[in-house]
Amino acid sequence: MSNSDRRSVLKTGLAMGAGALVGCATPGIANNQVKTPFHVPATYIPIVGSDQMFPVRRIYCIGRNYAAHAREMGSDPTREPPFFFQKPTDAIQYVAPGTTANHPYPSLTKNYHYEIELVAALNKGGRNIPLEKALELVYGYATGLDMTRRDLQRGMGDQKKPWEIGKSFDMSAPIGPIHPASRTGHFKDGSIWLQVNGQVKQNANLNQMIWSVAEQISKLSEAFELMPGDLIYSGTPENVGPVVKGDLMEGHIDGLPNLSVKVV
Ligand code: MN
Repeated sequence: MSNSDRRSVLKTGLAMGAGALVGCATPGIANNQVKTPFHVPATYIPIVGSDQMFPVRRIYCIGRNYAAHAREMGSDPTREPPFFFQKPTDAIQYVAPGTTANHPYPSLTKNYHYEIELVAALNKGGRNIPLEKALELVYGYATGLDMTRRDLQRGMGDQKKPWEIGKSFDMSAPIGPIHPASRTGHFKDGSIWLQVNGQVKQNANLNQMIWSVAEQISKLSEAFELMPGDLIYSGTPENVGPVVKGDLMEGHIDGLPNLSVKVV
């Protein structure tokens, strides 16, 4: 694929406002140095105010990070250590501001839930990052949805089996564009809400997180070496609930454009 071909693919993805954006480039390796028998797309997210794309490496998610949500999930929201899970990078569904993305209702579930979340995007990495240095790793922020097959998540949890099928499936991570923190500052408080068909479902403040973004980065880096390109879905507030085909979700975080997703 030539550079101009690739640019046109990316522009098409932007114009469509849906689907993970794909390209062929491998960071640090010129395309003509690696021969492969087939093409595996990489995942990129547009950066606001830039013609560059954010390359996605890993998607980390924190569980039960708002006290009222922890209670509704049946756990005690005392400050026990945070826990994390991952989604595959190709779970990203990019949603361009001002557009509504069609989001397919996934297979195997009868209880498909929204979780509106602030997403932090890293451009630096490291291990054992001290709290006071943690936000230096953050390149920017986006609004995301941690879509969840709640019945399968609960079922697997009840059986003490991995959550994978409930959380880490195709298209489970709708997201808006990355807003550089150099333009927006860091998100420590501000309204976060989600409406379904114009009705408010989730409505909270980012300052109600049990573990702040800086604390999440510091804790995560004890378990994993963080790297540029990592995303962190920072948890959802209370009042998660189901959507069905035809429902329109509108997600909001103060300072970011709304995220509009229709279940089809
Ligand atoms: Mn979540």
